[in-house]
Amino acid sequence: MMVKEFKPGRHFMARLDHDADLLKYLEEFAAKNHIKAGHFAVIGAVKSGAIGFYEQKSSRYEVVRFDRHLEIGNCLGNFSIRDGKPAVHAHITLGDEAGRAFTGHLMEGTRIFAGELWATEMLGDTLERVPDEVTKLSLWRF
Ligand code: ZN
Repeated sequence: MMVKEFKPGRHFMARLDHDADLLKYLEEFAAKNHIKAGHFAVIGAVKSGAIGFYEQKSSRYEVVRFDRHLEIGNCLGNFSIRDGKPAVHAHITLGDEAGRAFTGHLMEGTRIFAGELWATEMLGDTLERVPDEVTKLSLWRF
């Protein structure tokens, strides 16, 4: 079992910037606040969406794009470090006017309409992403 133990640090509540890219916003949020490890959740709505599905055989993300308004049913993720910089890993569920849900890995191209973020910094060990041979993903080093 690969586990690291942390203690909670600062807690943040933030209103997201209208028209910002959600993934970039989260990366900038972590950098600006010097968050090296942490977790967060977001709810709100987007003007467009981009979600990824990791094809395990080809080790590539297939991206599904939505050029329409959708609700953020939930968006959960974490902050860690990759190449010395804050990295965000998040998954998002987007809902349409009929209540249908689309879900996947949060990609660039998800534009914020309005949203609320709550985040907790985690203090303790270093949480760093490194390339993983087996999955070809960037996974936490233990
Ligand atoms: Zn993912």
